[in-house]
Amino acid sequence: MWELPEIERERKKLDQQFVGRRFRKVVVAKESWLNLPLKELEDQLIGRQLLYVERRSKSIIFHLDDGHRLVLNIGSMGQLLTTLNTENTGYDQEGPKLQLSFGFENGSWNVAGARSMTLQWISARELDEQLKAIGPEPGSRSMSPALLKQRFEKRRSSLKTALSNPAIIAGISSPLADEIAFRAGLLPTVRIESLNDEDYQALFAALSNWLQEAFDVEENGTENIYAVTNRTGEPCVQCGNALEETQINSRTAVFCKHCQHEHVQVPAGSTK
Ligand SMILES: [Zn+2]
Repeated sequence: MWELPEIERERKKLDQQFVGRRFRKVVVAKESWLNLPLKELEDQLIGRQLLYVERRSKSIIFHLDDGHRLVLNIGSMGQLLTTLNTENTGYDQEGPKLQLSFGFENGSWNVAGARSMTLQWISARELDEQLKAIGPEPGSRSMSPALLKQRFEKRRSSLKTALSNPAIIAGISSPLADEIAFRAGLLPTVRIESLNDEDYQALFAALSNWLQEAFDVEENGTENIYAVTNRTGEPCVQCGNALEETQINSRTAVFCKHCQHEHVQVPAGSTK
């Protein structure tokens, strides 16, 4: 999986390992992933200091000391492998499968197995322009049941489609929408026009609790943050009945028809 939890974990690693360090090397397997020629990127990047690493939606954003930003988006369907090499010779290790590598004086961060990616070298203003089209972060402090309701209002769609629309909320992919609907006890097919205030409370609790749990997963030492993703036919973690799937806007939605309903039936927060 390469979803918000995995991306946030990588961001943390990058931030802890390389902030304050200078870029020594950049390896990109395909020039078409870049918004400028590789040679130009190297000229711009090598020697620049990394000020901090931010995540916005599913992008990892590297802030450089000349005011530019390096914005990385990785598409992954298969086995994405990221490795952090903390040897100071790390950036010399280029395998044939390596698709991306950032080398610093204290090691390197390497990516292999991605289906596709984009790496943009842009100004702060260009980044702001791009982010305008993206909804608020699901884990931000401003997120609330009222804000969710406000974002959903005047739209007509299924819950899953609304949750996974980046213009409404940032970074919730199709599988994440299923996870959140499951924890809220709401069917992914439910119409957002029909949601009541209790449903919004449950949805917000599911969203924030699940994200919190998922972002802390390293500390908790568990990988079981995905309850429904890729688990069609397997027993529901709550009731033991087989999980089912349906198609919503040609996306597969996995759900439990015993635990998920048109409206919430249990108090928010007790669904875990
Ligand atoms: Zn169930």
